[in-house]
Amino acid sequence: MPDLPIYQLPHQAANTPRHLDAQALAAALSRPIVFVDLETTGADATRDRITEIGVVEVGPDGIVEWDTLVDPGIGIPPFIQQLTGITDDMVCGQPSFESLAETLAERLQGKLFVAHNARFDYGFLKNEFRRAGVTFRADVLCTVRLSRSLFPSVARHGLDALIARFELQPKGRHRALADAELLWQFWQKIHGLYTVNLVEAAVRSLVKRASLPAGLEETALDDVPDTAGVYLFYGDQDMPLYIGKSIHLRQRIGAHFSGDHRAALEMRLARAVRRVEWRETGGEAGALLLEAHLIKTLQPLHNQMLRQNAGLFAWELAPGLSAPILRSDRDTDFSRHPNLYGVFPSRASAEARLAELAQTHQLCQATLALEKAARRGSPCFARQLHRCLGACTGDEPLAAHRERMAAALAGLAIQPWPFAGAVAWREQDDAKAWWHILEDWGYLGSVATLEDAPSLLVAPARFDLDTYQILAPRAAGLLASAVPLESVRQFELRSPAAPRQEAGPRPEPAPVTTTGPRRNRPPNPDQQLLSFIEP
Ligand SMILES: [Zn+2]
Repeated sequence: MPDLPIYQLPHQAANTPRHLDAQALAAALSRPIVFVDLETTGADATRDRITEIGVVEVGPDGIVEWDTLVDPGIGIPPFIQQLTGITDDMVCGQPSFESLAETLAERLQGKLFVAHNARFDYGFLKNEFRRAGVTFRADVLCTVRLSRSLFPSVARHGLDALIARFELQPKGRHRALADAELLWQFWQKIHGLYTVNLVEAAVRSLVKRASLPAGLEETALDDVPDTAGVYLFYGDQDMPLYIGKSIHLRQRIGAHFSGDHRAALEMRLARAVRRVEWRETGGEAGALLLEAHLIKTLQPLHNQMLRQNAGLFAWELAPGLSAPILRSDRDTDFSRHPNLYGVFPSRASAEARLAELAQTHQLCQATLALEKAARRGSPCFARQLHRCLGACTGDEPLAAHRERMAAALAGLAIQPWPFAGAVAWREQDDAKAWWHILEDWGYLGSVATLEDAPSLLVAPARFDLDTYQILAPRAAGLLASAVPLESVRQFELRSPAAPRQEAGPRPEPAPVTTTGPRRNRPPNPDQQLLSFIEP
């Protein structure tokens, strides 16, 4: 739709503000618009049902009004009956949505779908159509957003506000056809204020923004909450394409598909994505932890893998030694071992960094064993250039050199894991609270309640650089609020006879929040390793 003009008017006419009467406006449309309003039994599109549909269809063939009551098959709550005047008695015996679905879809198909708070009406219709087994898809325009876009300085854009501001003439209120007709009146009013070109530009940008990549179902993002969490894009054969995190999931995912696609990556993603999945995490730290964990586990095509499994390195300043010792995480526990400095992704980068520090601080590279001394007491290369204070030649006492080396390395000190064992760290946003289970700077997963924590402790904990980098700057908060879980771990260790997996009741793996054609597929075995457990 965004490529189709909404109006077919001569350039001059489209650029001149003037009041077109209803018939002239309708005739100028290049394709019909349906102004739609629904009455329902409540606000939940999955649980509640439609009780009334009102449609004003406007197009080159004229203006047609259509409405019907619908038997929702469930009771209407009294306060809704009060609000709309639609009672159980009125809808009893009216056609069911299922019986209307085919003709209604035909009526709406291919037209610009306009509604106030369109997400509500469109979401309800999509759900009802799906239940009826009818495919329905439309380009959607929300008049709240249109009003906001055209009148950005105005605070209120509800239907009552529009009625007051534009002196619309309601033929009733909270009934479907009457409310749909108010939207058509609003549409006419804005054309009295703005040129057709300006309205068209606003409409196109709003409809475009709402559009999703072709490979995604129209409703794929309907349920995404705007809370903190991690999202996953999958492509053909359910291949992981990309993993990202945000404290506003909904906004962030939407931004990927905003339609501009300036970035090549965004364009490739939009073309390839077939399914979107998300996990709420209770906050930013959880989102960072889970994102890093999932990227390592699933290795999505478009995430840059920063670290391969080549091992990590750190310098150890052992007491009494004048040169640091290079340690690998293969044989040293970086989360517990004292006096470590790093972390480096390779031996070469560890040595390069130490050499760089030596230069900056006029340390002796021969004494640091980065350079072979010709013989004992002979000046190192830097000493000959007066860039070493002389630990090699005895001009600087080794103890003083060691002290300066320690000072130079201080900024790289690895904080030892500040707890005796595993801890649970609670994080909460508006929607949800999670306990992140952490041990030895490793992330074991997140659970909704502490009772579920033991199931995650069966996995071995290990120093993880991403987790360390996420948590170390938050160490003060972690120390203040994390709950130690040692007793659980000790209990596990004291019962070696029982296989660890059976040490406690294992909660069901998370029902993964997911969209798209594979909604009901069995969980990917890789994902079952993720240890992200929902209540
Ligand atoms: Zn030297």
